[in-house]
Amino acid sequence: MRFSEKNIPGSLNHSLQIKMADEVDDTIFGKIVRKEIPAKFLHEDEQCVVIKDIHPQAPHHFLVVSVKELRKLEDAAETDQKLLGHMMWVATKVAKEIGITNGYRIVINDGHDGGQNVYHLHLHVLGGRKMNWPPG
Ligand code: AMP
Repeated sequence: MRFSEKNIPGSLNHSLQIKMADEVDDTIFGKIVRKEIPAKFLHEDEQCVVIKDIHPQAPHHFLVVSVKELRKLEDAAETDQKLLGHMMWVATKVAKEIGITNGYRIVINDGHDGGQNVYHLHLHVLGGRKMNWPPG
């Protein structure tokens, strides 16, 4: 959640500002991670969860979603390196578990020009067909 400069705990507007920040920054993935809406997890740990993409672009298409509410890769700090590496490792682990044997593509759509739609950090893992290049 982002806080405005005027967001001072204890101020009259504090709860209102938190509500507005939630509305601006909360995403469907935030709700899934917090289990406010049901989802089937292919993997779950303290750093990330894995779900199937609701609109698969390949025979296998799953998402590795950070528990930490980072809006996008660009917002990752030096201290997030372990999380980023962990998410990559979980991607390979789940790909093996679901039987993707002939390679796959890992994608992060970052920000506007990257084509990101859900502003909560996630990796796409796509497999089960030959991918094209350039991706478009
Ligand atoms: P991006 O465009 O990189 O932000 O990717 C967002 C992805 O989230 C898209 O591939 C959507 O199909 C997927 N998606 C959106 N809502 C859900 C949901 N409730 N469960 C699973 N995947 C979702």
